[in-house]
Amino acid sequence: MAGCETVSGEAMATFAGDVVVVTGAAMGIGEATAMGFAALGAKVACLDLDEAAARQTAERAMAVHAGCVAMGLACDVADEAAGCGALERVVEAFGGLHVLINNAGITRDRTALKLASGDFRAVLDVNLTGTFLMAQAAATFMKTQRYGRIINTSSINARGKFGQANYAASKAGVIGLTRTLAIEWARYGITVNAVAPGFVRTAMTAAIPEPVKDEAITKIPVGRIAEAEEIARVHRFFADRHSAYITGQVLVVDGGRTLV
Ligand code: NAP
Repeated sequence: MAGCETVSGEAMATFAGDVVVVTGAAMGIGEATAMGFAALGAKVACLDLDEAAARQTAERAMAVHAGCVAMGLACDVADEAAGCGALERVVEAFGGLHVLINNAGITRDRTALKLASGDFRAVLDVNLTGTFLMAQAAATFMKTQRYGRIINTSSINARGKFGQANYAASKAGVIGLTRTLAIEWARYGITVNAVAPGFVRTAMTAAIPEPVKDEAITKIPVGRIAEAEEIARVHRFFADRHSAYITGQVLVVDGGRTLV
């Protein structure tokens, strides 16, 4: 199918006929993921807090990949009504919902004794509760199709990270959530998996001072920071129709960082 060749190394993968929703699709990993699915024939719905930016991703996907169908919608994943409403619009426009990439996430870093309860809750609301609410809304549709792929986003910092009590708690929560939903929804043909990235070059990590980045790279066996596309590839792996026997798994993509 047209566009397959643009995603190197995945000559046979295709998502033609699949409707893929990506949250936090305005930039970073979400944008790369939306572009990758568009390249492989999916109908892609780009959701983000920023509607104009979500539409831009969709427009770029359609401009780059001839024949691609994409839409951009405003959606705060932490807002239950907004999430359900957005997915309803996607199903109405595209006729189904096969893949949900729960990618939206935020940080509000502060050491624990200085961490305001509002910043603790805000991160849990988006990263964990938002992931649950979007998964629940998506599974309601997917159950009727007896098919679905839900891919959540954890982080290697789920292990604990100085200055990230809120973020680490949220990303550790995503692992328990992923495994539980996998158990409950397998009977509906829905798989639920998660990716746990290490250090990825996006806006989220852009503010980290260069000396800190350089120091971090010395601890990564592969010797560099990941590109967003390298996480997007994992999304496509879990979303593949042939990945039906893989569920409840968390795939660490960190260049070996957690091995050392
Ligand atoms: P990013 O560049 O900051 O992009 C995140 C996107 O999510 C932004 O467009 C953001 O919109 C959007 N977003 C934030 N809150 C949202 C909400 N409530 N509802 C909908 N969209 C929302 O982040 P990234 O680096 O690509 O990270 C993507 C995911 O990977 C996150 O879950 C992150 O925790 C995880 N991750 C990243 C890394 C890394 O090194 N980058 C490592 C491990 C895990 P606004 O800009 O308008 O806020």
